[in-house]
Amino acid sequence: MSVLPSFLDLGTTTPCAGQHAVFFPPVVAKEGDEERRAREARALALCRRCPVAADCLAWAVASDCGSGVWGGSTEEQRAAARPRSRRARTA
Ligand code: SF4
Repeated sequence: MSVLPSFLDLGTTTPCAGQHAVFFPPVVAKEGDEERRAREARALALCRRCPVAADCLAWAVASDCGSGVWGGSTEEQRAAARPRSRRARTA
């Protein structure tokens, strides 16, 4: 995983500060689809009021950030967008 850019300032001032369990799936327990959707909805709501959301999303896409909610996007959404962005770079 890439080193986090300084603008993210995670753990201090962004809305995701101290919200690791909301932004990332549990490590030990298996998360069901309904639980995942509810957790992601809470994370996305926090991202919507984040002042660095656009930069965060750009960084997550550029870094191929696989897990968790970043910049108002879910892991699934970024994975779906990945082939399109790769095609655009090679065109
Ligand atoms: S956009 Fe979301 S994940 Fe990124 S810094 Fe803001 S609250 Fe955290």
